[in-house]
Amino acid sequence: MHSRFKTAWSQLPEKLQTALRPIIDTPDFQAMLSAEHVNQIKTDCGYSDSELAFLLLPFAAAYAVTPISHFNVGAIARGVSGNLYFGANMEFSGVAIAQTIHAEQCAVTHAWLKGEKQLASITVNYTPCGHCRQFMNELRGGGQIAIHLPERQPATLHDYLPDSFGPSDLEITTLLLDTVDHGYSTPSRNRLLCAAIEAANQSHAPYSQSHSGIALQLKDGSLFTGRYAENAAFNPSLPPLQAALIMVNLAGKDMHAIEQAVLVEKQDAIVKQWCITENTLQALGCQQKEVIYLD
Ligand SMILES: [Zn+2]
Repeated sequence: MHSRFKTAWSQLPEKLQTALRPIIDTPDFQAMLSAEHVNQIKTDCGYSDSELAFLLLPFAAAYAVTPISHFNVGAIARGVSGNLYFGANMEFSGVAIAQTIHAEQCAVTHAWLKGEKQLASITVNYTPCGHCRQFMNELRGGGQIAIHLPERQPATLHDYLPDSFGPSDLEITTLLLDTVDHGYSTPSRNRLLCAAIEAANQSHAPYSQSHSGIALQLKDGSLFTGRYAENAAFNPSLPPLQAALIMVNLAGKDMHAIEQAVLVEKQDAIVKQWCITENTLQALGCQQKEVIYLD
């Protein structure tokens, strides 16, 4: 088991330790529990979905990267598939603080990149900030997503974000997590470039049409991609690099071990990612990075 889980593990009820050990002990544990595993644990231990998510929260928070705040937040998104996706806050020293990823954004993006199409609930150890409430309002059925917080009655996102502004106010019907393909072709044999274009094809940019994706290759040869997630209110939008860094972190890899990065975006896009992407990659120690324009 990874050392990050030691404190959380010691506080678990013994019956959950027994059920969870074979899952969390695998070297390629990916910070999620499949619906099959969730159902098995619920049957073995007698927990509800909500009770299990609260017990797992410290494991999600164990992925927090907080060199600035030292304030660790964990989130667990439950997809309609029944899968549970971990998320944690992530901060980056040496760049603008707006590059920060919140735990709820992390869990939602994690679910999106693993193919989940809709969320049923999100469990967090601190109340979601306004930024995250708005980010989650970009999801299908967003207002009805159940928010679970310690020592509070469950409530919906609508309860936490009444009178909201969202995609429907701008007559946008394609929402975050919906299946899309923007149709950019991938003629290149370059593995990283193809992966970045595939990510751009699945990016969510209905307000600016500034589709963008990124592919990162780590020093161990592993490859991660990220897609741009735009928001109706613009500011809680998540850049593609952040989405990829979420996947690097949740795979248990080191964000400072990026050997090569390729970002793709449109040359005439009204919203551009390259400038801040290059800046953050530089701060993470990545030397080999480039932007390639989609056509
Ligand atoms: Zn937040």
